[in-house]
Amino acid sequence: MRFRLVQSLPVVYANAAMPIATPAQYRAMLDAAQKGGYAYPAINVTSITTINGALRAFSEAKSDGIIQISTGGGEFASGTAVKDAAYGAIVLAEAAHLLAEKHDVLIALHTDHCHPKKVDPFLRPLLEASKKRIAAGKGPLFQSHMLDASELPLAENLDLSKKLLKECAELDIILEVEAGVVGGEEDGHDTSGVPAEKLYTTPEDMVAVYEALQPIGRFLFAATFGNVHGAYKPGAVKLKPTILRDGQKAVMDKHGKGAEMDLVFHGGSGSELSEIRETLDYGVVKMNIDTDTQYAFTRPIVTHICQNIEGVLKIDGEVGDKKTYDPRSYLKKAEAGLCERMKTACDDLRSTGRTIFGTV
Ligand SMILES: [Zn+2]
Repeated sequence: MRFRLVQSLPVVYANAAMPIATPAQYRAMLDAAQKGGYAYPAINVTSITTINGALRAFSEAKSDGIIQISTGGGEFASGTAVKDAAYGAIVLAEAAHLLAEKHDVLIALHTDHCHPKKVDPFLRPLLEASKKRIAAGKGPLFQSHMLDASELPLAENLDLSKKLLKECAELDIILEVEAGVVGGEEDGHDTSGVPAEKLYTTPEDMVAVYEALQPIGRFLFAATFGNVHGAYKPGAVKLKPTILRDGQKAVMDKHGKGAEMDLVFHGGSGSELSEIRETLDYGVVKMNIDTDTQYAFTRPIVTHICQNIEGVLKIDGEVGDKKTYDPRSYLKKAEAGLCERMKTACDDLRSTGRTIFGTV
């Protein structure tokens, strides 16, 4: 995918903390994945523990990767007394910048679905935080953000996307946009009532997105091809990855081979490996994973509680066993469970062993 260079980069990033990717390194990551036929797992995190599980997985897999925060994740991280999504996202991102320094892979920080009404209370404060960091000689807080204006008619969606992409590009931040609707329910946003045809992006939509955004700055595109958020039994989800192939072809027929778009696969949890792999051939460079890693995190806690039921509870006047109810005792197991699931995601997406850390 080719882009006009952003004209006026704010500063040269003097001593950007490694290895959260610099904007240039993030672009190189996306280019390498597009060229190499692989994609990055993008995991939703909500705590220090989930960040550490993800970092350990990327490190052990020698895979670069993406860590993302949803509005609900940010709200949770700010504490139940505060419930400020933007504030919590800043806290998690700053923590990730520090924690990632201990690892030798490149990590990009991203924010997940932001619906139009949350642009002002969520995205703009995050852009403001990046602006402050850049003014202090650091890199932006996040390397990309998602705007999900797919609930709007396409023309309105693109108007808002263009406006926000311009704001992001000025900070050397990439914007992910969506046209069409990802099915299912995530973070309290339920799209189960959406008509079936809206679940599939058309080639015309993809051409319109490319033509609207390409002149402004770098973007990622979440095309929809029957993908859904959440977990479903095998066979319940009818993915049509060829939607991606046909859309890319329409864009490249009109604008040349360099116009191939960087695509994002939402709702990766529970998908068949063959379908995941097929999307890599059509330009998917980022696959979101949340439901499967939520389960992988919680499962070891369940075992811990079941195996130590008489220690974690104070029964019949007894005092329990501090060693088993210390939250670290089960959160370490949860971190390890999440880590293993993420390593599988790296294998599935063929990012294992492909870190470009140290080369860009
Ligand atoms: Zn999504």
